[in-house]
Amino acid sequence: MLVLGIECTAHTFGIGIVDCKNKKVLFNEKNQYKDDTGGGMELRKLSEFHTSNFTTILLKAKQFLKTLNKDFSDLDLISFSQGPGIGNSLKIGSLVAKTLSTQYNIPLVGVNHIKAHLEIGKMLTGFKDPMFLYVSGVNTQIIAKDDFGKYKIYGETEDIGLGNLFDSFARLAGLGFPGGPVVEQLAADSKQNYIELPYSLKGMNITLAGMYTNLKQKLESGKYELGDLCYSLQETCFAVSMEVCERAMAYTNKKEMLIVGGVAASKRLTFMAKEMCKLRGAKYDSFPMQYAMDNGAMIAWQGFVDKKKATTDITKFPIAQYINIESEI
Ligand code: AMP
Ligand code: MG
Repeated sequence: MLVLGIECTAHTFGIGIVDCKNKKVLFNEKNQYKDDTGGGMELRKLSEFHTSNFTTILLKAKQFLKTLNKDFSDLDLISFSQGPGIGNSLKIGSLVAKTLSTQYNIPLVGVNHIKAHLEIGKMLTGFKDPMFLYVSGVNTQIIAKDDFGKYKIYGETEDIGLGNLFDSFARLAGLGFPGGPVVEQLAADSKQNYIELPYSLKGMNITLAGMYTNLKQKLESGKYELGDLCYSLQETCFAVSMEVCERAMAYTNKKEMLIVGGVAASKRLTFMAKEMCKLRGAKYDSFPMQYAMDNGAMIAWQGFVDKKKATTDITKFPIAQYINIESEI
């Protein structure tokens, strides 16, 4: 079954083509919006970027199908990110998917972007029922299936996500965007003097905005080495995330763990997760970053998972900016 997936929830426009019966990603290309002012995503520029650049990826997909002696009409299913995400981006992904579906009379399905992040991880690792740490620019959530087979959030940030914390701190320190990789490098090169930073853990939920304010004060005081602040930021927020993950695994008795989202690129975070799993006798695995970040292949695979909902009625699947993993979609 040949499925084409379209991702466009935020900065990325991606198309993936997956041979779903054989669990093989055949094609996965994307374009990513970058703001050179360092100020994050400006909505008008973001939609301008996607509208003027999606054709490059679409034509690449067409050329790729040609190498298989196929065309869009040979697809079995078209899938797209219905939400959650930024409205300006979601509308463009939806428009491209619905146009292709009508033009070639291919069934369409709208999918939950977060479920796609989780399910591609399962497909690539062969894990059956893991505890997920979902850490992206916006989200920090600890998710797993409950006894009824539905995804449930066991813990999350009550204010900002880990990626956002790294990006905001990096912006303050003039390190550019995205912040995570630079913070990781500066932490690795520092003397690694640990500086205590405040955070709050309420049951299974964490709050991180206070840590940001405190880091801002420490940075402005000029009394601390930037590298040590980066090191302490990583140690503190990764350790608190691991604490919640470990408790969620103990509570649900899950024996597998995966990290998904852009922050999964952090070597320090994955090291901590491996250690925690080893101590619990649980399995930890990872998969290539191109599938942990926003990408079209994960949307194609989620389309296959949700194929029963597919229809050629393109009035279905309105964009859904504010859904979460527990939503029906
Ligand atoms: P996503 O929203 O899933 O595309 O993930 C992007 C986020 O991942 C951004 O906030 C980045 O700063 C963060 N990120 C990327 N690499 C790293 C890293 N090595 N350490 C921490 N955060 C990272
Ligand atoms: Mg994402």
